Amino acid sequence: MEDDDLLVPLSALEHWSFCRRQCGLIHLEGMWAENVRTVEGKQLHEKVDLPGLEQRPGVRLARALALKSERHGLIWKADLVAFYDDPAYPVTGRPFPVEYKRSIKNNFRHAELQLCAQALCLEEMLGVRVPAGALYFGASRRRREVAIDELLRLETLEAVREILSMLKEGRTPPPEPGPKCEQCSLKDLCMPDLPGPGAQDAYLRGLR
Ligand code: SF4
Repeated sequence: MEDDDLLVPLSALEHWSFCRRQCGLIHLEGMWAENVRTVEGKQLHEKVDLPGLEQRPGVRLARALALKSERHGLIWKADLVAFYDDPAYPVTGRPFPVEYKRSIKNNFRHAELQLCAQALCLEEMLGVRVPAGALYFGASRRRREVAIDELLRLETLEAVREILSMLKEGRTPPPEPGPKCEQCSLKDLCMPDLPGPGAQDAYLRGLR
């Protein structure tokens, strides 16, 4: 693949925001491992990943909608996009992306970057502004509305640039050891506590 053809799957934004090394291990090295959190998330998405269109009063719902941004180098399939009747959006309806998560305990920003990237894709595909979206939490059945404001857009595009740069360089970032490693399904593959810069790579090379 040529560098210019690189596309960032939107899940990479959440991974990058959570831990740059996790993003590199998954999206550069193709590693994956399940833990309770990833399995629960997968079960939730199995229910919402079936494509379909539904008309309700005042809104059309599109499930598993393919998204792409040539401009920013993004690709994804949105869980749900609602198109609300709105006189300011006479042709398309007002797009409102909804990202499903099982639950989030403390830092919503990782998922908000992914949601914002969906809004950027929709804006490019439809030629309209997407002012807001939502995170829907399957465990509590609650949703959190998210304004797609300028700060979130800047953070999202900065993360996209950094991920594209990592993919082009082909270099997985170093570990970021900390409490978050206990939630990370890749901990056994990452070995964040091995001492010294590059120790993990040297260890893996020794096993080959
Ligand atoms: S174990 Fe820690 S450092 Fe390694 S990928 Fe996971 S969160 Fe990042």
